[in-house]
Amino acid sequence: MKIGEILKRGTFSISFEFFPPKTEEGERDLFSTIKSLEHISPTFVSVTYGAGGSTRDKTRRIVEKIHKETHLTVMAHLTCIAHSKEEILDILNEYRKIGIENILALRGDIPTNIPDFKPPNGACKHADELVRLIRSNFGDYFSIGVASYPEGHPESPNMEWEIRYFKKKVMEGADFSITQMFFINDYYYEFLDMCYKEGVSIPIVPGIMPITNFRQVSRFASMCGATIPDDLIRRLEPYADDQEETTKIGIEFAIRQCEDLLRNGAPGLHFYTLNRSRATLEIYQALGNSIEALRRT
Ligand code: FAD
Repeated sequence: MKIGEILKRGTFSISFEFFPPKTEEGERDLFSTIKSLEHISPTFVSVTYGAGGSTRDKTRRIVEKIHKETHLTVMAHLTCIAHSKEEILDILNEYRKIGIENILALRGDIPTNIPDFKPPNGACKHADELVRLIRSNFGDYFSIGVASYPEGHPESPNMEWEIRYFKKKVMEGADFSITQMFFINDYYYEFLDMCYKEGVSIPIVPGIMPITNFRQVSRFASMCGATIPDDLIRRLEPYADDQEETTKIGIEFAIRQCEDLLRNGAPGLHFYTLNRSRATLEIYQALGNSIEALRRT
């Protein structure tokens, strides 16, 4: 099933993001997480990709396993910065061969562990080029998603710049977008307004990160430029070493955040699960009937 078409019909979407585990034990845990989330019947699940190309085989294998062994629609993330165009086309041909129809087209972070990193000759330097490459070689076969940043990508000097290049990805043929995590919904609403004013009308699904580990999420948030509200920091800080209390506070916060997004017409919710199911399940259950009603429409 093509995610862009589902979203275009106005069907409310629930989705979960996973990363390819490094060990066999991690993979077993991931598939038990997937099993416990499968009964919610998510619209789709997605599997991340290492920007340096390091997870190429792992991502592919996990994507294929989910596709073949579950009833879930799966989207493969693909980053272009470290691959030649030929490599990208090979990866996409492999996905087409096994029936994968959904790709999240990304540039990826510039690898900081490789001094003087230079993309291979002829590589796509930004995600808009990757979207163009996919559309020009595969037509409408793939439904293409792209990333968006309600608070601006850390490399963007201002929001005008942010919207200009986001719009470019849409003009090249992106069908929908998933946002970077954010904790203050006004950033998302303002971003939607800015996109609307620029004539960008693809569905933009908010990315939700339930906080279960304060230090880890603080690190992620500062790397990607997501603001954690001061009152939430004040609540979480005293429990930085207490995973149970952190999880409770994180879940309660995410429930309120999602309720507000539902009230304001978000086209779906994309959960950064970190390969665990508890927080996502509790949030989903707490949203209860309102979410079920939206999914039926
Ligand atoms: P781009 O859209 O290329 O944007 C990057 C920066 O360049 C922005 O500042 C933009 O304004 C600017 N820009 C864009 N186009 C141009 C242009 N033509 N000329 C000049 N400037 C331009 N990373 C991974 O490694 N693996 C993953 O699986 C992964 N999944 C993600 C999923 C989601 C939902 C999100 C939001 C992010 C994900 N990322 C992932 C992180 C992402 O790779 C990084 O944020 C990366 O730094 C930017 O990728 P992008 O596709 O947004 O890049």
